[in-house]
Amino acid sequence: MTARGPERLEALVACLERLPGIGPRSAARLAHHLLRVPEDEALALAEAIAEARARIRPCSSCRAPAEVDPCPTCADPTRDGRVLLVVETPRDLAAVESTGAYRGLYFVLGARLSPLEGVDESALDLDGLRERAARSCVTEVCIGTNPDLEGDGTALALLDALSSLPVRVTRLARGLPTGGQIEHQNASAIADAFEGRREAGRRRSPESRSPESRSPESRSPESR
Ligand SMILES: [Zn+2]
Repeated sequence: MTARGPERLEALVACLERLPGIGPRSAARLAHHLLRVPEDEALALAEAIAEARARIRPCSSCRAPAEVDPCPTCADPTRDGRVLLVVETPRDLAAVESTGAYRGLYFVLGARLSPLEGVDESALDLDGLRERAARSCVTEVCIGTNPDLEGDGTALALLDALSSLPVRVTRLARGLPTGGQIEHQNASAIADAFEGRREAGRRRSPESRSPESRSPESRSPESR
């Protein structure tokens, strides 16, 4: 495919400009790049887009994009079906998976509440989540939304949606990053870390702690 004239180039730029994070200048640069590279290289991109669109569908169980349904994670008999981790995006799922530290299953919301951007609860598949969490094997739903304003708002909506179900609802811990230094952390990270403190001495197993079993002494951080 070659550009037959500026209109087609403009049309290509306009398509590229609609991609997230791509401004007009980047779009123009990419368009010219696609015209410059060998034709099969440029067409491979078009083909990859068409193939991905044709073959990838949300998994009916976790909503993550997959070529088979259920996806390989949901179909894996070695995963712990009792725990469901709710994440905002498939990229969050991939980040958690890459750690190898989590062996439960997932539910991908696909959105987060953002009143400023006009994203309300109708964008979250709350009915789908409730239906998924109501399956008899599920005993815990862990909310893995981001630790920011929108993520916190979304977490509240999830808590509300799950309140009528007989499942334990937890949320990922937040606070100090591994390898970080306390003096370099901001106040909210330190406050979060204090709030989420746990018994010292051994690593926590998922079942070993509930909020009620936390140490009763809660001195304020400024008593140091
Ligand atoms: Zn799945």
